[in-house]
Parts: sequence; structure tokens; C-alpha cells
Amino acid sequence: MPDIKVNDQQLEAQLARLEQARPWSPRVMSKLETFIRAAPDVDLFRVNPIQYALERSMTEAEAVDLFLHATKIGLFEMDWHIVCPHCGFVVDSLHTLSQLRTHYLCPICGAERDYALDDYIQVAFSISPQVRDIPYHHPESLSVEDLYLNYRLSKDVISPLPAFPAWRDAIIHVTRYLGYVQPGEIVRTAIALPPGVLRTTDGRNCLQLAATQEQQEQTSRIAIRLVDGTFQSDDPQMQPGSLTAKHAEQQLVQFRYDLQRELPSGRVVIDVENRQDRRSALCIYQPGDMPVPVLTLRPNLSGKKLLATQTFGDLFRSEIIKMDETLSIKDITFVFTDLKGSTEMYEQIGDAKAYFLVHQHFDTLRRVIRERHGAIVKTIGDAVMAVFDNPIEATTAALEMIDALTTFNHTISQELILKVGLHRGHAIAVTVNERIDYFGQNVNIAARVQALADANEVYITADVYTSPGVSDALKAYQVAPDEVLVKGVSEKLLVYKIGQHHHS
Ligand SMILES: [Zn+2]
Repeated sequence: MPDIKVNDQQLEAQLARLEQARPWSPRVMSKLETFIRAAPDVDLFRVNPIQYALERSMTEAEAVDLFLHATKIGLFEMDWHIVCPHCGFVVDSLHTLSQLRTHYLCPICGAERDYALDDYIQVAFSISPQVRDIPYHHPESLSVEDLYLNYRLSKDVISPLPAFPAWRDAIIHVTRYLGYVQPGEIVRTAIALPPGVLRTTDGRNCLQLAATQEQQEQTSRIAIRLVDGTFQSDDPQMQPGSLTAKHAEQQLVQFRYDLQRELPSGRVVIDVENRQDRRSALCIYQPGDMPVPVLTLRPNLSGKKLLATQTFGDLFRSEIIKMDETLSIKDITFVFTDLKGSTEMYEQIGDAKAYFLVHQHFDTLRRVIRERHGAIVKTIGDAVMAVFDNPIEATTAALEMIDALTTFNHTISQELILKVGLHRGHAIAVTVNERIDYFGQNVNIAARVQALADANEVYITADVYTSPGVSDALKAYQVAPDEVLVKGVSEKLLVYKIGQHHHS
């Protein structure tokens, strides 16, 4: 067992602070301490909080809260990363949301695509180097195997190949060369090339050789050099280029290579010369004629799920999206609320009292939204805009908000009456006024659907109602379908009005 370097003083002080951050379930703190002290180095690098929860029988929400609070006090570091769906390697890894972009080129396989916050963008947590120093804090010190297979390859890839239950074993299986190439060194690899592709990467650039059906007796020779961070070659056939391939699910994927060429099948000898003043981590691998896979990931904390977590908004207010960048979200649920008759209330009881009540109503809604694992985006006058990852929880939250406000009304002389609307779909996330906000047609629809609601009513669109589990969650309620025209949408919109509980 290698040395475990834990800074006891730091760890104990920070655990004591973390314990005070909020009430935790029994043994949550002791399990975390055991994890930090005893887990293998690699396990403390990019901890997936959803898997952490599963392995310790915690709720996902508590585990996410745990790592967010732990990050806030410096026990862990947040790591935003983008996983390539076609090779499983981490395309980019960032400490803050503000560094995130939507468009990436994978340096390992050359796949070039747009990413969405709920599409291969995930958030993980690595132990702080001040608490426990692990080799993954110093990637330059790693063996080339650890660098590729533990540091650069995502832990969360689910292998689609029955012969290789672990994706890293599939990677090892197709790897023909893996090693550091020192400055000035030339590495020679001889490979039998059946029809199909062979790729060479230094972790920053990728080049591809595509072997045709034509067989050749003579050995092909390929000479490449690494200069100024790119691959170069004197071979006139080796040219930068992009190509489109069909992946395993018959969709088109774009690939771009620093250099590529076709050559006949047969034996090939590849020389790679490192003309840089730093060593290079070279990997040559042979996917052959295997179709481009579309890899799925184990359940994880997607960027979207994190943005829809109230604790993230509370603790990391300064975490914003880069100006001029719009991050896509494929599917998120919006909840809009408003108070009925608030103008009259301000007139009746005066601004100060009304303002006080409106704030208490915000607190009530915030509590429900937090309990149902959503996040408030903003308040607009007396209205609230919130986002949820899960449409069932969004629907349940909407109903509970009305109940909670009814209960709150018993404690005050006025009656606060809520009107709620829900819709789900794609949207973009941007930063406006130093705060994360959401835009798009689906946001507009959610707001318009809210405007249909009358006293203590919730309106949901068909997109929400037909989400798995939502109609079950509404069994005890009167649900009335309706077709409406809303501003900005050309076709009639199918909506459902959720009224009172059934009294039977
Ligand atoms: Zn890739």
C-alpha cells in the first residue's frame, strides 16, 4: 500500500465546519471521513456523487449537498468535465462553470460536436491537495498508463461490449503503443493493419490512418513528428482533414484530424519523433473497422442537475456562465408561480406589509422547491421562476406550494393565492446580470401556461403530463385537459388543469 498523505489538522478542522453546514443523516460524516482517509488515490479523484450515494445508501440529494458544502469549505474541488461519447475520454476538465464552452474537439478520437449541460457534461469532486495529496493532482508525475486509463478516461463509461465489461479493458485491448516519448526521441511501432482505422494521439492532437480493402505485400512507412504541439509529416498524402462517419446508432458524427491519410492494408511501420522540449504521452490505438460507439455513462451529476440544485445556487452564486456563451440544455422543467390579486393586497394593507408577506411567501416556496430538489432561478415582482431536473418532483412541488401557502394563510390576516404553470423542454442557459438565467421558446411557454391558471390552480403542458410517473403522481387530483392558444405559439397547446384533491 503506498503512503497516504493526509493533513490531519486540516481534515479535522474542515470536517468540523462541514458538520455545522446543515444537519446530516446519521453516519454521513463518519463515512466521508473514512473515505477521505482510506480510499485508494484514484477513488478520491473525480468522485461521482451519485455513485458515492448509491454505494453508501444515501440519497442522491444529500450526497450532492455533502460534496457542494465540502467544496465550499475547501475539502474538495469541483471539476466540470466533458466526456466524449465516442471514446469515453475526458475532452476537457475545468474548475469553474465560467470556463465551459459548448463546442469541443476530442483530442483522443477526433470527434467534434456540441455538448449540452445534460449531454456528457458532468460535475465531479476531487479531494483538495491541502487535505490529501494524491498523484492525480500532479498528472505530470503519473505513469503513462495512469495518465490515460485513470486520469484521462472517464470512470463512468458503461462498456457496450460484452467481451469487455470494463471499458478500460476494451481500450487496453486496442492499444498498440502507450508510452512517453522523450524530447529528441523517435519511437518506432510496427503494426499489422487490417482494413479499418488506426489513430495516434498525444492527448492534444489526433491523427488517423485509414486502411482500405486493398492488400499490400510491401510495408508502408509513416513518419510523423511532434513540433510545437502539433503533428507534422513530410508525407504529401498526410493532410489535415475532417470526415463524417455513421455511429452505431446510425447518426452522423463529425471527426477532425490534424493529419490523416488512406493507405492499403498490410504491415505499417510508424515512426514518431518528438521534436519538442517536453516529453509527450503517446498512444497509438486501433479501433479497426468497429463502428463508432455511442457510449452511455453511469448515473452522474450532470451540469444541468447541478444548476437545478438550490444548494449550488446558494453556495456558488459567483459561478456563472462565460459572457457571450450560451450553454444548451436538452430537457429541463420550468415552474412559474404568481400571486393572484397582489395589486389589491398592496392597496389594502400598504406597501410595507404587503412586501413583508410577499417575502414570507418566497421563503415558503423556496423551502418546498429545495425539498423537491429544484432551484429558484429568480423572482420577478411577486412571481417565482424555478427549474427542476425531474418533472415528477416539479409537479409535486407545484401542488405542495399551494398547500404550503394555504397553511401559511392560516397564520396571517390576508389570503395569498397562488397560480402555477409548468412546462418542460430544451432551453439555453446564459448569464444575465451576473446570474444564471434560462431562455428559449419553452421558457416562454412555461410563463404563458402559468398565466392560464386561476386561484390555487396548476397548469401543466402535455410534455409534463406525459412524462413517466407524472400522471401517477396526480391520481388524487382532478385533471382536466384543455386546448389553448398561447401567444407566440402557432399551434394549439394541449394543457392540463390540476384542480382540487378528489373528495371521495
Ligand atoms: Zn473521443
